[in-house]
This record gives sequence, structure tokens and C-alpha cells, in this order.
Amino acid sequence: MKKEAFLTKKQIEEIVGTYPTPFHIYDERGIRENAKALREAFAWNKGYKEFFAVKATPNPFLINILREYGCGCDCSSYTELMLCDAMGLEGKDIMFSSNDTPAAEFELAAKLGATINLDDITHISFLEKILGRLPETLSCRFNPGGYFSLGTDIMDNPGDAKYGFTTEQMFEGFRILKEKGVKNFGIHAFLASNTVTNEYYPTLARQLFELAVKLRDETGAHITFINLSGGIGIPYRPDQTPNDIRVIGESVRKVYEEVLTPAGMGDIAIYTELGRFMMGPYGALVTKVIHQKHTYKEYVGVDACAVNLMRPAMYGAYHHITVLGKEDAPCDHLYDVTGSLCENNDKFAIDRMLPEIEIGDYIVIHDTGAHGYAMGYNYNGKLKSAELLLREDGSVELIRRAETPKDYFATFDCFEIFDRLTGEGRADK
Ligand SMILES: *Cc1c(COP(=O)(O)O)cnc(C)c1O
Repeated sequence: MKKEAFLTKKQIEEIVGTYPTPFHIYDERGIRENAKALREAFAWNKGYKEFFAVKATPNPFLINILREYGCGCDCSSYTELMLCDAMGLEGKDIMFSSNDTPAAEFELAAKLGATINLDDITHISFLEKILGRLPETLSCRFNPGGYFSLGTDIMDNPGDAKYGFTTEQMFEGFRILKEKGVKNFGIHAFLASNTVTNEYYPTLARQLFELAVKLRDETGAHITFINLSGGIGIPYRPDQTPNDIRVIGESVRKVYEEVLTPAGMGDIAIYTELGRFMMGPYGALVTKVIHQKHTYKEYVGVDACAVNLMRPAMYGAYHHITVLGKEDAPCDHLYDVTGSLCENNDKFAIDRMLPEIEIGDYIVIHDTGAHGYAMGYNYNGKLKSAELLLREDGSVELIRRAETPKDYFATFDCFEIFDRLTGEGRADK
């Protein structure tokens, strides 16, 4: 499939008059259409709810769009919980799926009335100690170990992952929780990441549904929801076929009716915690070519760097690139597209065939809507970019300003050097 940017060169030339590159820009129309399709795909399940994984794109303006489609939020840290609270989410709309959890985070999650998803059997007593008594509703994260395969394809390696209860611990954990008075139980698992196949959710669902029946039979626990979590991926590469969420929803329904309904468990709610699937394709990093370098390779230097998008440097992840205005030009030049960090892995593309590039060209780096801006950092003293929203009517709105040096130096604001760095008085004076 040809990957096309959701912006034209003409639009970008207008936007940069107000908001200089680099920036992340999000496509409201795409976000809405996808959220609607997800809701429809699972409409067969009465209690269905998507808890958007806040860590993917922690921007309240974007999350508020998803909330119009019935989405809640999945948090895994103190500040993510704070954000949801400030946005006015109710406890029932917050899932707290964390691991290695500090006491203060459990405390805040409980205070907000969030549904807590325990990552480990030892967290039962940890949580009880913090709260005095356990909440009425609790969920446990399951890790079956071994490899997660679809047919002959190994998708991921849960046996090597730090998350979740073992199978035995699920049974023991449910027994303990039941003794301690927990009334409603949930089961959660996240066994493969960025799956670009319609088979992941139904396969995972069968595993969890069968486990749910056994857990109910052996412990008597009242299971009220099953959380399929994240992991539905997006086609970062043009040769990949996108997931069809309608097919996925329908396949999960079939498994549900095969396993849960006959077991008298046809009232279980299905939850999801999708991040990448909700936002990934609907964000782009826009950057300008500022240098070209001809040494042992041909380098294109842009004004964004790995602090704006870490995935290529961190995982060698592929992000498709469009050179604006050259969409139909032949890709007959071989380039490395680099940022300016003093790190040789600061490359958005290595040995990529692209149209002939000139200084001043605008480049769109695709699929940065999830785990893009959010993973940003400040290495080399580089500042984080702005986030913009391309509205359905074509207008552009600033939804997070770019960092300034003052933001970068803010944690020196109790020291004298702050005055010289910023020309302003210290906060404590
Ligand atoms: C990261 C994460 C998600 C979202 O994962 P995606 O791959 O973005 O869908 C959901 N749940 C938990 C607990 C996570 O850590």
C-alpha cells in the first residue's frame, strides 16, 4: 500500500509561518474515524470499553477526542493519573496497569477510584498494607510464559518479559483475593507488541477466556471483565497490510460465544488498552532539511533529532518518509537521514531510497502519533517540539507549545545560576 502523508507541501508552508519546524502534527479526522470503527467493532459486547494507553500520547486535547467515543484511559504512573484526574475522568474510566509500582502510585490510583490491575502476586499484600483493605474490584495481569505464537510464527516472548503472574500464581492470587473479600475480578494480558495481523486478539482472547472459565470453576471468583490490553499494531512499512478492526472484533465475538457464553459467562465485559492503534498513524513529525553532507555516504541533515522521535535510534524501527512536494518523484537516491545529536544512532532512516532531496525541503516522518513525542527526552540539551492538531476543517491548533531553554533549565530554579541562564528571578526569591 502506498503510504501518503495527511498533509501537503502547501499546508506545511502555511503552518511554518506560525509554528517553525520541527513539530508533531495530528490528524483529527483520522483519529475520529478510527475510534468510531473500534467502537463499532466491539459494539456486540455490552460492557466493552477502550482504555487508551496514555503513555503513547499523553496530550489531553487528543485524549478528549477519544473520550467522545467512549474511551477511558489506561495509566501506569503518578503523573498519568494526575493528568486523567485533571481532565475530569471518573474512577470507572481509569485503568491502572503498572508494574514495579511505587506505593504513592497505588495510593493515588485508589483515591481516584481507578481499577487496579496487579502485576505481581506480592502486590496483593503490598496494596493491602498501603490501603488498609483491598478494593472490591481487582484485576491480575497474566503471563503464560514461553513464546506467543500464531500458527508457526513466533510473535513475542512473554517468558522473557518482566510482567504478570504465572499460571499457578493466577489461581493462587484469585484464591487469596477472594478470601480477602474482593468481589469482582478482571484478567489482563499483553503478550505481543505491534502485531500486524488480525489473529492476535482472537488468539489471545481464546487463551484468556479459557483461563477465565477455569479460574471461575476452581476459585469461584466472579469475573466481570477481560482486558485484552494493547498490542494491535500499525503498518509502519508500506508493504504491510493494516489490521482490519471489524474482522478483529468479529473474531473475538466468535471466540466469546464459543467459550464464555456456554460457560454461563456471557456477561463479561471486554476491555482494551490500545495505544499505538488509536494514534500511531494519525501523527507525523515534520522536519526541514538544513544540511546535506557527502562523505562515505550521502547524508541529509534535518532539524529534528532522536529527542523528537526515539524509536529509530532505540529499536532500529522503520518510519516511512515522504518528501513533501516530491510525492510522485522517483525514489532513486540513497540517503541516511540524520538528526544533530552527538550519537551515531541519531538517524531517522539508513540507506533509504528517496527522491532527490534539497536543502529547505520539508520531510514528513510517518506514524509518530503513538510512542513518538511521548518518548522524547532532552539529551544534548535539545528541546522538545510543539504538538499541533490539524482540525477536520483544515485549521491548525497548538495543543502543546515547544519547550524553551527556560523549561530545560527549570530544575535549577532554586539556584543562583538560574537568574543568569534566564535573566529572571528565582522562584524562591
Ligand atoms: C504500552 C501499554 C499499552 C499500549 O500498548 P500499544 O502497543 O501502544 O497498544 C497497553 N497496556 C499496557 C499495560 C501498556 O504498558
